[in-house]
Amino acid sequence: MVFRLRDFIFYPAAINRCRTFLDKSQYWSQEKRRDWTREQLDRVLWHAVRNVPYYKRTLGPYEPRFKEMLDRLDLSELPLITKDLIRKHYQELQANNPGHSRSRESHTSGSSGTPMQFLLDRSSDTNHFAAIWRVLNWTGYKFGNRFACINTTMETETEQLFVYDFKQNCLNFPFVNLKKDNIKKCVTRLKKFNPVVIKSYPSALALFSHWLRDVGIRDYRPKAVLTCAETLLDHQKKIISEVLECPIFDFYNQNERACLFSTCGEGRYHIHEEYSFVELLNSESLPAAPGESAEIITTGFHNFVMPLIRYQTNDLAVIDEGNPCECGRTYKTVERVIGRIEDMIVTPRGRHVSRMDIPFKYSPGIQEGQIIQKQVDKIKVNVLKADSYKQKDLDNLLHHMHLRLGEDMKIEYDFVDSIPLGENGKKKFIVSKLNLERPSNA
Ligand SMILES: [Zn+2]
Repeated sequence: MVFRLRDFIFYPAAINRCRTFLDKSQYWSQEKRRDWTREQLDRVLWHAVRNVPYYKRTLGPYEPRFKEMLDRLDLSELPLITKDLIRKHYQELQANNPGHSRSRESHTSGSSGTPMQFLLDRSSDTNHFAAIWRVLNWTGYKFGNRFACINTTMETETEQLFVYDFKQNCLNFPFVNLKKDNIKKCVTRLKKFNPVVIKSYPSALALFSHWLRDVGIRDYRPKAVLTCAETLLDHQKKIISEVLECPIFDFYNQNERACLFSTCGEGRYHIHEEYSFVELLNSESLPAAPGESAEIITTGFHNFVMPLIRYQTNDLAVIDEGNPCECGRTYKTVERVIGRIEDMIVTPRGRHVSRMDIPFKYSPGIQEGQIIQKQVDKIKVNVLKADSYKQKDLDNLLHHMHLRLGEDMKIEYDFVDSIPLGENGKKKFIVSKLNLERPSNA
């Protein structure tokens, strides 16, 4: 994120067309969306079996049944494609028809192991740009407005507290230079700049909020904040909303552009259904029911140089009741995105447990935590104390962790001065050294 401005400079007309389309399509009727989705899947499947050697081989045998599958919008008969298969068949997955001249190589962030290479084309770039633009619009941002970024992934090193990027009209705060003792200066600059939205990783924004509270700044109210790239955990959301008292928007997307989920003003996670076809499957590969956690499987609509059909993202979401959203958008929704399969703890009894952020909500004196699992019967918790820390905070944390993981899980803890960023600039809440497979239950 956010905008690669060169995309807009090269293809302004194409992007504007996509954006105009997205303005309308978010309010389509279910019937209209269904027909449109069918058309996109039809286009991707036929392109794949004709022009992509890998799919010619693997999906070709299913071709006579495509029509029936498309009529039901049900691709469950088709094989999944995994990250390992993409690495293994990289050449064979490239379309061999002309017209992908502006394709370029990209890769996953590698937050859960080896980065995966893939190709993106111009159609993918323009549609992605328009989709992210709309995510920002939902926060109140309009193209060209001022925005700020608490940035954990600055490309160039600087010792400055803030750096203005005039091309994007963005005030960047390199997170690495922020400290509790310079946070007042940071807020003074933010108040003066008055951005429409502050974008940040949830862990960075939560820490920023803690510092504001610790130094007694109670009068800073941004217009909105937008979190991305890490799972927004409940205790992070709580401190951000308590301190900043502003609307919190969150979005979820991957470098490989498998799918896009983002929250509206009502706080509901909408699946951007023009971006890709999303299947939410339980551990038996069936459509998941409300309350169940589901694996996110996607078929992209826009990247024709290397289409991903039934791509196993390894990310999980919790299904909601499916009630219409008050905002009036007609997309499917999920209750929450709970991150990657690797973001789970495995118990000695073989259960996969997610939402390990919940035990932290009983411990307001703990500023940050990180859970490391190296073996199946033991975890270590790194604890960063807040100024208000009391022994009761740790007792509560351990008690609620045992309730969630069972008494037979050994829990060690360490007090630390900071939780380090990973190599990709993201902070991992759970670091699992176990070799996890698909969960049986979350
Ligand atoms: Zn909504």
